[in-house]
Amino acid sequence: MQYLFTPPAVVSVTVVGKTEQFPVHRIYCVGRNYEEHAKEMGFTGREPPFFFLKPTDALIVADEGSTGQMPYPSLTHNLHHEIELVVAIGFGGKNIKAADAYQHIFGYAVGLDMTRRDLQNEMKKLGRPWCIGKAFDASAPIGPITPAAQAGDIAQAELFVQVNGVDRQRSNIAKLIWNIAETIEHLSAAWTLQPGDLIFTGTPEGVGAVVSGDTLTGGVTGLTPITVTVV
Ligand code: MN
Repeated sequence: MQYLFTPPAVVSVTVVGKTEQFPVHRIYCVGRNYEEHAKEMGFTGREPPFFFLKPTDALIVADEGSTGQMPYPSLTHNLHHEIELVVAIGFGGKNIKAADAYQHIFGYAVGLDMTRRDLQNEMKKLGRPWCIGKAFDASAPIGPITPAAQAGDIAQAELFVQVNGVDRQRSNIAKLIWNIAETIEHLSAAWTLQPGDLIFTGTPEGVGAVVSGDTLTGGVTGLTPITVTVV
């Protein structure tokens, strides 16, 4: 096969304890999946889960012991952190039932759904797509993927993010409105999941702004933490 120009490289994420990388297919994200975060965004109650996507080349892979570098994005004056558990799909399917969902999971990682909140809010007001607020370059820092068998009880794990050593978000995966299995059921009813898909499962309350020079450290109990500096 000859191409007009060099095709983009496969985007991949490091796997804890393996030399092979996890090749990424798509990045799905769940909106407003913790009650207290839904409230801080001006919503209440349990609404059906909804989804948006980020491009795979928005990932910044921050390996253990290294600091990811996230350039402060253009067009925004309100760059927000959203700490999230990321589910890595190893076995695809559609119309997956919640009871079978865990069989499709390869592992888990810590991720940041970085958001140009001012632009997202403007798009919401206008009833337009969120792409410019959510799916921009370098908007998805992620740590290494831990295989599910080594990750411990992820459904009850604590998650947190600190900015310059100060707590900003701290909650528990148990507080997800739509849990991991239910999220996979809903998502796979709308799209056929493929090996290599990543699912950012949503963020708890406490989202807020970061500026150039800030260092974010995020973690989920049982997973490799992530450190990212905004440059
Ligand atoms: Mn999010």
